Amino acid sequence: MTIDWDRRTCARRGHVTYAPDEPRLRERLYADTALGTAWRCLRCGDFALGDPHGEGPADRAPLVPRGKGLRDVFVLRFLAVERAVRGVFIALVALAVWRFSNSKDAVHRLFDEYLDVLAVLCILLAKRLFGLRGGHHAFEQERHSASPLEVEETAAVGARA
Ligand SMILES: [Zn+2]
Repeated sequence: MTIDWDRRTCARRGHVTYAPDEPRLRERLYADTALGTAWRCLRCGDFALGDPHGEGPADRAPLVPRGKGLRDVFVLRFLAVERAVRGVFIALVALAVWRFSNSKDAVHRLFDEYLDVLAVLCILLAKRLFGLRGGHHAFEQERHSASPLEVEETAAVGARA
């Protein structure tokens, strides 16, 4: 399964449409539909109903990160979160060392505890970001586990009829 970063981002933040002044470009991005005008999204390429979010010369159009660039933005954000988590972790360890500096045992215990917490956080983050496959798998399993019930229900309806 590949991730469509463009559509994923559009689903979360909405489409980005723009009406260029150049008629040649304009007519390629514009569609007249039964529900009104639609403009082509600069990110995912789908047509979105409604007025464009901006207009002007084509070279003034907003630069929209797409595809691989967009994925890199996600990865960079993940690394930033990872760094923040690590920063908090180091601060906690420093605090623990400072508070329990006269008890070597306590420091060790705390260090182990915080390592566990960090591991869990990392797993959760990784799952959230890269666990789409697992999520899909779980979804499929849920669907399959529900199907015998459906079969039973259908059979009951059939028997009653
Ligand atoms: Zn879009």
